[in-house]
Amino acid sequence: MIVATTKYIFVTGGVTSSLGKGIIASSLAKLLQARGYKVTIQKLDPYINVDPGTLNPYEHGECYVTEDGAETDLDLGHYERFLNSPTSQANNVTTGRIYQSVINKERRGDYLGKTVQIIPHITDEIKKYVKFLGSKRKFDVVISEIGGTVGDIESLPFIEAVRQLKWEMGSDALFIHLTLVPYLSASGELKTKPTQHSVKALLENGVQPDVLVLRTEHTLSPGLKEKVALFCNVNKEAVIESIDVSTIYEVPIKMKEEKLDEIVLKKLGLPLGVAPDLKQWNEFLLRFKNPKKEVKIALIGKYVELHDAYKSICEALIHSGAANECRVKIEWIHSEKINEENIERKVKDCDGIIIAPGFGHRGIEGKIVAAKYARINNVPFFGICLGMQIAVIEFARNVLKFSDADSTEMNESTKHPVIDLMEEQKEITDKGGTMRLGAYACQLKKDSKVYNAYGKPKIMERHRHRYEFNDTYLKNFEDAGMKAVGVNPETKLVEVVEIPNHPWFVGVQFHPEYSSTVLQPHPLFVAFIKAVLEHSK
Ligand code: GLN
Repeated sequence: MIVATTKYIFVTGGVTSSLGKGIIASSLAKLLQARGYKVTIQKLDPYINVDPGTLNPYEHGECYVTEDGAETDLDLGHYERFLNSPTSQANNVTTGRIYQSVINKERRGDYLGKTVQIIPHITDEIKKYVKFLGSKRKFDVVISEIGGTVGDIESLPFIEAVRQLKWEMGSDALFIHLTLVPYLSASGELKTKPTQHSVKALLENGVQPDVLVLRTEHTLSPGLKEKVALFCNVNKEAVIESIDVSTIYEVPIKMKEEKLDEIVLKKLGLPLGVAPDLKQWNEFLLRFKNPKKEVKIALIGKYVELHDAYKSICEALIHSGAANECRVKIEWIHSEKINEENIERKVKDCDGIIIAPGFGHRGIEGKIVAAKYARINNVPFFGICLGMQIAVIEFARNVLKFSDADSTEMNESTKHPVIDLMEEQKEITDKGGTMRLGAYACQLKKDSKVYNAYGKPKIMERHRHRYEFNDTYLKNFEDAGMKAVGVNPETKLVEVVEIPNHPWFVGVQFHPEYSSTVLQPHPLFVAFIKAVLEHSK
């Protein structure tokens, strides 16, 4: 349905970071979508980077890429996985982007001699970006999640901007505040004081939350909810418990039980719509929670201490595992710790190997050793972006016998640059937003494993890289048994390589993990897990 005026929901967080605002926003959006509303979610990030593309994954985890080529916060991945609909650049705005746009306007003279200030110029710019998503009449509800924790200096302009929006929009806007109710084991008590304080911090900024979502490890008593309601000026039924669950995908079910969607619709003056049909979602949960088998995948990367650096891959493995009725366990292996001597021991319990995306030289040799192990020992192998490039380098060194074969990213003076900088990248010096980004078409060869997985010859997949397969070597590779089975129809860039004479050895230059969702697990991950299951027999 398309409602008369777009409604806006602002989600803030208090007490601590990492409470899961993104998951609550996604779960609410999912429920509203299931009731027939068109919903999108936006992330407002208070840091000064224009986008997270230049950030080391250790900072904020994975950089997620949208179809339109925006490098964004990993929460957008959750939005897409829950809602099964694409996001775009407009769904992620940082302080850096806001300032950049205001400063550009100032340089153009758009402010007509005025002093440019945080209020109103920065806040107006934030308001413009928030309202933009609602302006196209494509969505009934726009949910804006404000990154950080209330009380942070950095997020103040965002809070002020959404305060103003609420003032202007009245009942078309609503505030949800997420907090923590900690359990003190020494006294055996749940404590509401941090919630009270964080609502006070919001009130100091002129924001009265309409709904409170309380993260907790234990069930909240009606008395506790009443107390929070009374001290925070929120209706009792708008105090929502969000208890820890075993998977993020259960949160929509919990939020439905807690009637978060109903209270939100009521407060926004919208009809409840149809009762949410979560049949497919529940079927997924059932398969996920009752696996018939279990497999172990070695995930090889250099940021393995921080699992969020590979968020979309982890989630894609969950989706594809459930599709195969099996639990996928991940064996995190640091690429810098792998060598020819220990590889067998490190992966011997694993039924398949994934080499993750990445940048730079660190850990490369360990990844090459792992690719060789998978190739020689017929272990199902999935190389993603850098992982594909590694498979190519390994094949060149050990099968084609180009002993110094490399990517020019790692060794500019190699005699055999089997992976080389893309032509359009050669003049580029800026790092931000300058890679080959976003969705591109790819033509698949019939009779390949990838073609069989997708079941169609033409696909679209998202990219994020500067280097490519150097096709001056294509014939060498194909003659020796590594085939280019996916090619960009316009530029002829090689996007997929395969070794047909291997149970499942696939390298993709794109990132299939970004487009795997609960309701549409990615076909390549599904096929990989299927191959892994066969191998594990
Ligand atoms: N570093 C490689 C490139 O830029 C691979 C990038 C990636 O894995 N996302 O081409």
